[in-house]
Amino acid sequence: TQTIILKNRPEGKPKLSDFEFKKDDAELNIDDGELLLETHYVSVDPYLRGRMSDAKSYVDPFEVGKPIHSLVIAKVAESKNENFSKGDYVRGMLDWKTKQVTKGEELTKVDSSKADLSAYLGILGMTGLTAYCGLTEIGKPKEGETLIVSGAAGAVGSVVGQIGKILGLTVIGIAGTDEKIEMLKSKFGFDAGINYETTDDMKSAIADAAPKGIDIYFDNVGGPISDAVLFNINKFARTINCGAIAVYNETETPESISVRPFLIKNSASMQGFIVSNYEDKFPKAMKELTTWLNEEKLTYSETIVEGFENIPQAFIDLFDGKNKGKMVVKVS
Ligand code: NDP
Repeated sequence: TQTIILKNRPEGKPKLSDFEFKKDDAELNIDDGELLLETHYVSVDPYLRGRMSDAKSYVDPFEVGKPIHSLVIAKVAESKNENFSKGDYVRGMLDWKTKQVTKGEELTKVDSSKADLSAYLGILGMTGLTAYCGLTEIGKPKEGETLIVSGAAGAVGSVVGQIGKILGLTVIGIAGTDEKIEMLKSKFGFDAGINYETTDDMKSAIADAAPKGIDIYFDNVGGPISDAVLFNINKFARTINCGAIAVYNETETPESISVRPFLIKNSASMQGFIVSNYEDKFPKAMKELTTWLNEEKLTYSETIVEGFENIPQAFIDLFDGKNKGKMVVKVS
C-alpha cells in the first residue's frame, strides 16, 4: 500500500517537498462490517490548499504527518459489510492511499454503466453541485440577464457557463489561455471569453464583452480579476463568492480595491457560498444535471493524470492552470 501524507504545511504555492510517500507491504485484512477498497480515481481540488494551512476555516485542517484525503472513486476488493459487494464502485472522502480498509460509512455507490467513473468526481460530483447550487440559489438567474464566470474553463466554471446558457443567459467566461477561451465558445457555448493573461485592461475588456453590464458574477478566483468585474455590475447584481484561487497561496492578506461603493450604488449583493450548506438541494441538482447530460445540453472536460505518484503534482498544477475542466488522477 502506498500513502501520501502532508509532510509540512506549504508556504505560498505548494511544492512536491510538502508531500511524502510511504510504502507498507503488510497485507490488509478486514473484520466484520468492513470493506477493502482499491483506489481508482482521486479528485484534486483547489480547496485542499486551505486544508493544508492551519488557519481556521469551514473544514478542519489536515494534520501534518497524516494522510491527505479528498473525494475518491474506489472499487470494493473485499467486503464483510452487507451494504456493499465485491466489485461495487463507491465514492467517498478517502485517504490518498492505493488501498484502504473502511467501515463503509459515508460511502455512496456509483454506477459505472450510467457515466464514466471519473464523472462522479466532477460534473456528477462536488463541482457539478457547486456550479448548479451556487448559480441557481445565490445567482437567482433570470432569462436575458448577463452572467460572467471567472475560472471559466475549470471544473466548476465550465458547468456554470453551460447552465447559464440553458437558463437563457448571455454568458462571458474569463480564463488564462487562448485555447481555453476557444474551448469555452466552441465546446461549452459561451457567448464570449476574455484571456486575463493577455488582456491589460480587464475593466474595459469586460465592458466591451458585456455591453448591457453584468447581472451575475460567479467568482471562482477573487483578486484583481474580481475587482475588474465589479466595476461593471448592474443595479441589483448578484456575486457568488465561490472560490478565490488567486489568493489561496498568499502569505499576507492581499490588498484589494474596496468593493463597497460598487455594491452600495448598485444595490448589489455578494454572498459567500459553500456547497455543503446546500445539501437539501442536491437531489434536485443531481436530477437536473443528469437529465441535461443525457439530453446532451451539458457536456464536460476532464484532465486525467495517470499514476498515484503524480497526485501531488496534479494538485500543484491547478495553480498553474494546467487543467481544462476537472483535474482527476487515475490510479489503476
Ligand atoms: P478549476 O478546475 O477551476 O481549477 C483551477 C483553475 O483556476 C486553473 O485551471 C486556473 O485556470 C485557475 N487559476 C489558477 N490560479 C489562478 C489565478 N491566480 N488567477 C486566476 N485564475 C487562476 O478548479 P475547480 O473548478 O475545482 O474550483 C474552482 C474554484 O471554486 C476554486 O477556487 C475552488 O476553491 C472553488 N470551489 C468552491 C466550492 C465551494 O463550495 N465554495 C466547491 C468547489 C470549488 P486559468 O488557466 O484560467 O488560470
